[in-house]
Amino acid sequence: MRKNIIAMLAAAAAAATFSQQANAQEAPPPALTEAQAATVDRLIDAGLEDDLAWDLLESLTTEVGPRLGGSPAEARAREWGVRELKRLGFKNVRIETYEMPYWARISESAEIVSPFPQPLAVTALGRSRGTPEGGVAGEVVRFRTLLELQDAPETGLEGKIVFVDEPMARTQDGSGYGTAVRKRSQAAVEAGKRGAVAALIRSAGTDSHRNPHTGGALSGAGETAVPTAALSNPDADQLARALERAKAPVIVKLDLQVETAESVISGNVIGEIPGQTDEIIVIGGHLDSWDLGTGAIDDASGIAITTAAAKLVGDLKGKPKRTIRVVMWGAEEVGIYGGKAYAEAHKDEMDKHVLAAESDFGAGRVYRFDTRFSDEEAPKGKVFEAALRRLAVTPGNNMAFGGADIGATRDLGVPVVSLRQDGTDYFDLHHTPDDTLDKVDPEDLRQNVAAWAAFVYIASELEGDFGRLPVKETGQ
Ligand code: ZN
Ligand code: ZN
Repeated sequence: MRKNIIAMLAAAAAAATFSQQANAQEAPPPALTEAQAATVDRLIDAGLEDDLAWDLLESLTTEVGPRLGGSPAEARAREWGVRELKRLGFKNVRIETYEMPYWARISESAEIVSPFPQPLAVTALGRSRGTPEGGVAGEVVRFRTLLELQDAPETGLEGKIVFVDEPMARTQDGSGYGTAVRKRSQAAVEAGKRGAVAALIRSAGTDSHRNPHTGGALSGAGETAVPTAALSNPDADQLARALERAKAPVIVKLDLQVETAESVISGNVIGEIPGQTDEIIVIGGHLDSWDLGTGAIDDASGIAITTAAAKLVGDLKGKPKRTIRVVMWGAEEVGIYGGKAYAEAHKDEMDKHVLAAESDFGAGRVYRFDTRFSDEEAPKGKVFEAALRRLAVTPGNNMAFGGADIGATRDLGVPVVSLRQDGTDYFDLHHTPDDTLDKVDPEDLRQNVAAWAAFVYIASELEGDFGRLPVKETGQ
């Protein structure tokens, strides 16, 4: 019986492959040559022994440390990027600057004033307005979810402090974050619309430590956004319990002091391994981080993994077929300014961009490979999948996200892939003071380098391209 099912599955798979080939007409089934397949294996072996990624990761997180978008620390990170790319032999190393608005926290505190006076662990959400000096106080009104707040009447919260207590799910693929981000970005706007003086959210995080998680809040919806901060998960529990047990209104005081500037200079750092053709493969991570930790997992790891992988491919004999361009995007956390600036600056050469990919989900092992190629070219994903199989990477789908910094590039039609990392623990650390070097497992980092090196090499050498995606308005 089992044999019959396997035979049927095999027949079905063969039929699917046949029809894909028939649809692709003149395109022969994609494959690596024997020599290319051997090179992929050697690259994976080398990646599993790699020490460069760790060295870059340690160097960036130690010598620069936290590097908020638009800050002097981020400028030092750019100098670091130029220095390292030159040292490693990359060509055309440069900084491409752009202007962006600046936001930074100065101080933050919160406390329950009554009936159970005590401090609460909070952190301001990125781009939050500051409170008046001395803070604002108000009665706390709890909403279990963002949807409950959105369904609340347009008035009725005048002078109150809104508390959105929505929890976040722990998942391997990070899908819980998509929902959590909505709460983080919109609570302040929704609260302000209804007359509230401030908004608190339960952190978009999965840990039980007393570390609130920062992250960007919406400022674009403008005038109605009120000062907004995240409570650590145990502090959100505490506030919910206080509301349960209190016989009188629970009054909280929130004091956020921030600084802003209309325009500062930031930039993307770029280095290349020139290819034999003018076609380009773009890979990288974001150079900036939040200010609370040292941004080891978000996203110094992505910088280190992609740079080390490109270096392994660059060290092969002869030039790669396509140019491999490493981009260290700036100011992702505070509004994806670097990613948008890159697409804008390079829009005239987008037809030369064959493929783009970003590493920005920590340092956990790659467990899945997703593509977003044109439908006709989607079968080429199988070449990558086959090569990555020995690293315990499973085939994914053709709906890859790619990464925040290549969103604008993807919207101009450039195909992308995602080397999906195990994010089971990512949101325990993400955007907290706990995002530090000691959380990275060197073996996991090496597995990433091995997978990326194999991916970059195949992307550079494979015969034919990956099609084009529909062009979208990015709404910048
Ligand atoms: Zn990131
Ligand atoms: Zn982040």
